[in-house]
Amino acid sequence: MSSDTNINLIGKNLQELEELCEKNNFPKFHGMQLFKWLYNKTNTSIKDMTNIPEKLKTVISHNYNINLIKVEQKFYSKEDDTIKYLFKTKDKRLIESVSMIDDSRHTLCISSQIGCSVDCSFCSTGKMGIIRNLDTGEIIEQIISIKHNRKKPITNIVFMGMGEPFLNYNNVIKACEILTSPAGFNLSTKRITISTSGILPKIERYINEKQKYKLAISLNASNNTMRNQLIPINKKWPIEDILNTIKKYQFNKYKPIMFEYVLINGINDSSNNAKELASLLKGIPCKINIIPYNTINNDYKRSKNIEIFINTLNKYKSNFRVLIRKNKGQDINAACGQLATNNE
Ligand code: SF4
Repeated sequence: MSSDTNINLIGKNLQELEELCEKNNFPKFHGMQLFKWLYNKTNTSIKDMTNIPEKLKTVISHNYNINLIKVEQKFYSKEDDTIKYLFKTKDKRLIESVSMIDDSRHTLCISSQIGCSVDCSFCSTGKMGIIRNLDTGEIIEQIISIKHNRKKPITNIVFMGMGEPFLNYNNVIKACEILTSPAGFNLSTKRITISTSGILPKIERYINEKQKYKLAISLNASNNTMRNQLIPINKKWPIEDILNTIKKYQFNKYKPIMFEYVLINGINDSSNNAKELASLLKGIPCKINIIPYNTINNDYKRSKNIEIFINTLNKYKSNFRVLIRKNKGQDINAACGQLATNNE
């Protein structure tokens, strides 16, 4: 009898599933069959896995499990086709994920940690502190669970939910590999965006490893004084260090880097800030995603200067594109920076 009782198969990569088969005296190729059932067909019922031998099914049923994270509650937006999911983990912690449907596009914003240690002053999740990293299974389970629930093919995944993905680097990258495997979810690397607040050693690792997922840097400020106030880790890894590292990466118009800029009234939204931002990003082929601030329980307010800020940015722009993010699910606190498990 294996000693792996109660180990979840979801989150295991192909190599691990093959090893599991061999360890239990079954040929390695059944690992690929399991991989396809789990991640391509997103089938979580062992008995329905028709090409898996009955004896292997028995071994799996006795020694492993294929459990999905439990949906605790769903919040439906009245404004758009957005649902916020509140999931409960095995250790009874709550995490949130958001499903946004816009015509043929179905984007999931998923969590990588329970809470977050970065403590950005404008973010609800940061107020929770860090509880723990999610494992690869828990990251993938959010996606499978929403796929089963919404019955609409998932086209895009963004790691912009709870947590700083680069502080859970290994589990996030392993999940991305499963998501982009042709035998798995078969998503293009261009359909996955990892957003970081600027964990410099991990940005360097990401670049050195030549990872192909889209990278977004949550910049939110046009100078260090302002960024120190908004994102405290800026004191350790300031703007110029991040940008110097980014410049080493071969971004181009087909593979641009994205900078996110949450626009907060009276804090970072003046015309001078826009000019300063344009000058900072000069020479970097990138997109700037302007995100109107979503109010949470603090003193920050949504900018009243959005149009002027964007016009100024466009006036001084070099080789970047300016985008403005549509706010989805604001009425259910599902918008950017609003995720936090209040229910906890
Ligand atoms: S914005 Fe992201 S990195 Fe900053 S506290 Fe919130 S979850 Fe953490």
